[in-house]
Amino acid sequence: MLEAERVRANLERIRERAGPQVEILAATKYVAPDEMWALADGGVTLVGENRLQDLEVKRQRWGDAFAWDFIGNLQSRKVKQILPLVRLIHSVASDSVLAQLGRHGEAGTEVLVEVNVAGEETKGGIRPAELGEFIARCPVRVAGLMTMPPFSTDPEASRPSFARLAELAAEHELDRLSMGTSQDWEVAIEEGATILRLGTALYT
Ligand SMILES: *Cc1c(COP(=O)(O)O)cnc(C)c1O
Repeated sequence: MLEAERVRANLERIRERAGPQVEILAATKYVAPDEMWALADGGVTLVGENRLQDLEVKRQRWGDAFAWDFIGNLQSRKVKQILPLVRLIHSVASDSVLAQLGRHGEAGTEVLVEVNVAGEETKGGIRPAELGEFIARCPVRVAGLMTMPPFSTDPEASRPSFARLAELAAEHELDRLSMGTSQDWEVAIEEGATILRLGTALYT
């Protein structure tokens, strides 16, 4: 069972390191709808969901308690339903998604583009060399970039990916950098993250 006190202690420790300008997003894919209260009581104000269905259920029940982002693998046919539910989609990475954003986006819609910094074959995300043209084709405002570095148990292994993402954001004059999960958030802060996406580091 998720404990609010544990979430609060973890959040305070991480916030102290991160500073007030870095947003801490709680990834809620491991959190049952019934347990979401522990996040609110623990001081979490921003959450990120991976699946539309879970987002709908949790937001219906806990809508006012948090700001909601979408951080999961994004299917274009779900864009229409996700858009009105969230503040920001972190994972825009295909032309079929851009087409749906063109149809259903509104004046205030903002998104992050997911970048495949390391060029991993098996992973989604836009290649750095294609990023400029992709951003130019995006019909809504691109507020920043997101990345998931190659899996490693060594936090330092993520540093080159984070540094490159920060470079790309500066090159394209973008403010938001969604990078850093439970195992590498400290490195992400050092490389300029503005949104950390945390699961286990908050809950255990
Ligand atoms: C689950 C998830 C996270 C958080 O992962 P942890 O390792 O538990 O911190 C971050 N980003 C995305 C896209 C996720 O799906």
